[in-house]
Amino acid sequence: MKMTPSASLLLLLLLGLCQAHPLQEEGGQGEEEEEEVPDTMDMTSRILTSNNATDEMLLEGDLLAPKTRNAMTCWSQSCLWRKASNGYVMIPFTMSGAFTSWERQKIDRGMKAFHSSTCIRFVPRQNEYDYISVENRGGCFSALGRTGGRQVLSLNKQGCLYHGIIQHEINHALGFQHEQTRSDRDYYVRINWQNIDPNMAYNFYKKNTNNLNTPYDYSSIMHYGRTAFSIQHGRDSITPIPNANVQIGQRQGMSYWDIMRINLLYGC
Ligand SMILES: [Zn+2]
Repeated sequence: MKMTPSASLLLLLLLGLCQAHPLQEEGGQGEEEEEEVPDTMDMTSRILTSNNATDEMLLEGDLLAPKTRNAMTCWSQSCLWRKASNGYVMIPFTMSGAFTSWERQKIDRGMKAFHSSTCIRFVPRQNEYDYISVENRGGCFSALGRTGGRQVLSLNKQGCLYHGIIQHEINHALGFQHEQTRSDRDYYVRINWQNIDPNMAYNFYKKNTNNLNTPYDYSSIMHYGRTAFSIQHGRDSITPIPNANVQIGQRQGMSYWDIMRINLLYGC
């Protein structure tokens, strides 16, 4: 097929849009929790879309590549945030001045959700060595667990300031990986490798995760949506088994087991 340059460009743009909005059709039955959410794109798509432009080295779409150690070892105590004598896990943070007060409120609300259900407490940094620096960088991403020193948690103003995404990235910073990379995931989901760009296949590799004796959780906020990284428009990269109709990739907020795992991991 021969096309004029402008037609090719248009096609490229359209393809780009398909890639960027692969889950519109399944995003949900009007379950948007917040009025400002403009469409029904699910959280995974939103994160991946927001991250298309980033020049950070990202794993699985939104995990910062560890510079000093393998992320799989992150379940050792050294990658966790420490519990203070008052029984709370105090996590110091700073917030970039690039955020407006309204945007700060959104982030604050995301953090408060951890306060109300776990022993995690986010506190403004005084002079602590280890802390989370919340910044408006080119995407939604975080390091895995506590890395030591300043660690960036990026929430791009345009694409990441949604309650579910904020919680998802914070959960990474607490040490949690994506649900579908769990060591036992093959019993619960099928990865459709034929629908995944081979260069992106590493995003679906299993990890040696500590599952804390908790069940596989389709409703986890850490679970990818079913067409994440799919190169076949509308086709699943992840299919729940045996029931393919189970919903995955929700973005409303932490599930029962998401909360339970934080409490288990940190001994809340
Ligand atoms: Zn993630």
